[in-house]
Amino acid sequence: MISSIPRPFEWQLKQWREILSRHLTGVLPHALLMSGPKFVGKENFAIALVHRLLCLSSDLEIDQACGQCKGCNLCLAGNHPDFVLIEPEDEGKEIKIKQIRAVASFVSKSAHQGGWKIIMINPIDKMSPESKVALLKILEEPQGKTVFIIVSHEAGRVPSTVTSRCQKITFPVPPEKDVLKWLQDSSNDENKLIKALDLSNGKPLLAQHYLSGSVIKRRDEFNAILDNLWFGQVSPVEAAKKCHQKKALELMDWYRFRLHSMAKDRCDGDLVPEIFFFYDKLNKARHWLIESNPNPKLLWEELFFDWTALSKKLIS
Ligand SMILES: [Zn+2]
Repeated sequence: MISSIPRPFEWQLKQWREILSRHLTGVLPHALLMSGPKFVGKENFAIALVHRLLCLSSDLEIDQACGQCKGCNLCLAGNHPDFVLIEPEDEGKEIKIKQIRAVASFVSKSAHQGGWKIIMINPIDKMSPESKVALLKILEEPQGKTVFIIVSHEAGRVPSTVTSRCQKITFPVPPEKDVLKWLQDSSNDENKLIKALDLSNGKPLLAQHYLSGSVIKRRDEFNAILDNLWFGQVSPVEAAKKCHQKKALELMDWYRFRLHSMAKDRCDGDLVPEIFFFYDKLNKARHWLIESNPNPKLLWEELFFDWTALSKKLIS
């Protein structure tokens, strides 16, 4: 069972050592705000910390949960009575106020196992304003060995009334070399790894997700269509026929990414207004796809005509 114990990623060891040092010296804050972009592993870190804090091993200096004590077994079975995970009940939905109210009684009772009581909120960004107010009331009245672990993908939007009561731990996008090293377990194709890293903007868990499916292959196919259009090897109408039945939002994001990279590559002062106008148009097209129901074939034809027009402007 030891292999099942969650542990921090290599790029999180600095934060891990800091928090364990606080734990060992008895100054663990009663609320931690773990912030950073999505897909860098904050939830993994938080769960690893939950296991470590609920481990009842007498060896306090162990780096990770022992995996053998009663606390660890309850954690691994997913039913530790001193741990509550609050997350949206349905994917994409908000955390409801009743979920926060339910925690109030948990906070006021003493721990079943005589150790820590932990409430993890994942993420606070999915809480309604009313739920945040309810949370604030509980945060103001910490009871003994209780710790709140609050995850946020958008720390700038967390109310200052909450952040002021939390110790903040930040998780930036890790260094590229660390991510590449970690991703080597997912693929030994260096070229594919670089593509996944590029596509995910360096976010390790997103890059891993891309490597596990056919996303990179689909993106290569779309980029090939754009290349063929650029050099006049296919017409916008023919290209639209190849795309109109595919996942439109996914293609639109790659299209925007391609244009964004193009603008970045030309940032040596050679500004081309058409690139920016077109980028703006793609943003609007993305919005149409979400809000209305445009004819995909016509939409792609128009966007591919614009692309070929841009190629003529830039190649000439
Ligand atoms: Zn243990």
